[in-house]
Formats: sequence, structure tokens, C-alpha cells
Amino acid sequence: MHLILPGDTIGMLGGGQLGRMSTFKAKQMGYNVVVFDPTPNSPCGQVADEQIVAKFDDGPALHELAQKCDVITYEFENVDAQAVELLENLGKNVFPNSRILKIAQNRWFEKEFLRDCGIGVADFLKVTHAADLEVAAQQIGFPSLLKTTTGGYDGKGQVVLGNYEEALSAYKTLNHSNLIWEKKAPFIKELSVICARNFNGEVVTYPATENIHVENILDISIAPADVSVKVQAEAKRMARIIAEQLNLIGVCGVEMFLLPDETILVNEIAPRPHNSGHYTLDACICSQFEQHVRAICGLPLGSTELKAYAVMVNILGTGAGNCLGGLEDTLQNNPICFHLYGKKKAAAKRKMGHLTALSNHSAEEALQLALEARKKLKWG
Ligand code: AMP
Repeated sequence: MHLILPGDTIGMLGGGQLGRMSTFKAKQMGYNVVVFDPTPNSPCGQVADEQIVAKFDDGPALHELAQKCDVITYEFENVDAQAVELLENLGKNVFPNSRILKIAQNRWFEKEFLRDCGIGVADFLKVTHAADLEVAAQQIGFPSLLKTTTGGYDGKGQVVLGNYEEALSAYKTLNHSNLIWEKKAPFIKELSVICARNFNGEVVTYPATENIHVENILDISIAPADVSVKVQAEAKRMARIIAEQLNLIGVCGVEMFLLPDETILVNEIAPRPHNSGHYTLDACICSQFEQHVRAICGLPLGSTELKAYAVMVNILGTGAGNCLGGLEDTLQNNPICFHLYGKKKAAAKRKMGHLTALSNHSAEEALQLALEARKKLKWG
């Protein structure tokens, strides 16, 4: 791999907020960015040099992207793997590569990969026929979850199972030929670690954060997580192993469950910047977005050190309107960092922006500041 230097062009598959925040950093570092997304004026397209407006299976448009870019990345893991392969076949470096993307896109491949790395995961079995339900019920039992192997995110495509009748009904509802039965982990906290690796094999990890979800959507990330030194170290060690075993180039979010006996199980990997790492923009010397740009361009990685306790809260749409009120009140005399993604429609549960609060004293103080600030915002 040769160095991609300022003045060169980065291609971004996907035009959402993760691409937008990566693009801000890439532009700050002197790169050009061409984004590829079917929706015109996407959050990322608004800040990139150019947006190619096309579907992810549009061959000629992908050729155009390849021709314009020196390196290509993606900002969500449900991007068409065939598009990434096509770009690779055209001789372009896409980071993280299509092998990693395929592992992350399929819960079955993902769990097998993690198990092969010696990383703990919830017990799981593949379900492709109704008969598999009985085997899974006997071998794994309840409570469990039935999930589609592909296409699920933010809790979509999954059902919690308390008994066999619920399993039968979930099987019908999900109506998918590739499912995975997963033991429900009795976690006390959900954690995540953002890691990054570059071509030279350099690996960095950010502190584990605690993540609180509401209706399966990330609501709050607290950095660092209030866990023992041992748990922090183990969470980072697991993320490092994953980055190394994937031969990752770029950033990857690793989602974890912390059990009462301090065992950690990995739930998911996301080979891209992660919502739980947004706090790094305001609280770390090198944010996850800059880290991603550095890694895919072959530059040395930056410091992941936390400058303060940090709490990020998401701002979701409610469907009540597209205009965000209360901002003046929210920002008044407040150590709050404010981010909106430039989305026009604030549909219910849509990620519209986030707030990060910093504190030199405690995570509790940062949490209180962030929640108080968010309370003052209203869609109308
Ligand atoms: P996922 O789509 O796999 O990220 O799951 C979304 C959320 O569902 C997670 O953040 C957890 O809160 C919950 N969840 C998923 N899988 C499990 C599991 N095996 N045990 C307990 N909770 C789970």
C-alpha cells in the first residue's frame, strides 16, 4: 500500500452522518472527498467535494468513483459487498476490505470468526429450518434471541424468546431462511471499544465506554465506563485481538456485554466509526474519524487519550416536526459540544445529531450536563 497524502482523494460509500464526520476530518487534513450515495444532498454530500448520486449496484457510477479516488472506504456495514468487490477488482484499495465487510454483515460469520479468535460470545446455533428451533431450544434454552443473520441493525430483525411458543411465532414473523438463535446474555452493562489498525500493524484502542440503549437504539455513551481496571484492560485486549485477526485497516467498533462475574462477551463488530465513539470528536486528542482517515491513508495513528470525562447523548427525531427548538437555552453557559447532521426530516427515532458534555470532575457530572441540555431541545 502506498501513502495517500493530503491533496489525494478519498471515496466514501454511504452519505450518512458517519461519513459526514469522517469527511469533516479528512477536509481538515487537506484531502478531497467524493461521496457515493443514492440520495442527493446527503449529510456527507453536503460537506464533501462531490457526491456521485447513484445506487450501490450502479456499475458505471462505481467505475467513476474508482477513477476519481485514490482510496475508498464506507460508512455503514450494510453497504453492498458486491460494490466493494467490484471496486477491489478494479484495482482500488477499499478499507476495511470486502472480507471484513462480509464477516460483519452476517451474524453467523461474525460469531464464528469471534469464536475462532478465542473471544467469548453468547452461545449460538444456526436456524435454517423449523426443525432447528427444537434443537436450539434443547441445547441453548431460554431466554434467547432469534435474529436474522443479515440486514439487522438497531434491534431490527430480532425477537426475544421466553419459551418455545414464542420461538415458533418469532420464526414465522421473521420469515427469513437464515437465522441465528442466541442465548440472552445476563449483562450488567453494555460496553464498546473503538479500535483502529493501520497497514503497518499499528493498533490503538479507545477507552471502553458504557452504552445505554432505549428501544435497542443507542441513547447515551459514558466515557470511560465505570468498570474495574481489569475489565477496561480486558475489553481493550479483546478489541486489539479482533483488529489483528481481521487484518483491519481503518476503525472498528466492538460491542460487548459485561456479565456479573466480569466476563466479557462480544456482541457485534462494526468495521467503521461507531456511534458510541462520537464523544472522541470533543474529548480525545485524535477522534475516531481522524483515526479512520489516518489508517486508510497509511499514516501513523493518533493518541486515544481522553482529555476529560465525556458523555454523549443522541438527539433523535420524534416525528413532531423538523425544526429543533430550544437551542439557545441549551447552549447558554453550558460546556456542551453540539452536532447536527444536516438531515431535513426528523422522523421518529432517526439519528439527527448528538451532544457531548465534558467534565474534569466526574462522568456523573458530564452525564447530568448532557441530559439537562438535551431536555431543553424540542422538535416542532
Ligand atoms: P444488536 O442488533 O445485535 O446490536 O442488538 C441490539 C441490542 O439488543 C443490544 O445492544 C442488546 O441490548 C440487545 N441484545 C442483542 N443480543 C443480545 C444477547 N445475546 N443478549 C442480551 N441482549 C442482547
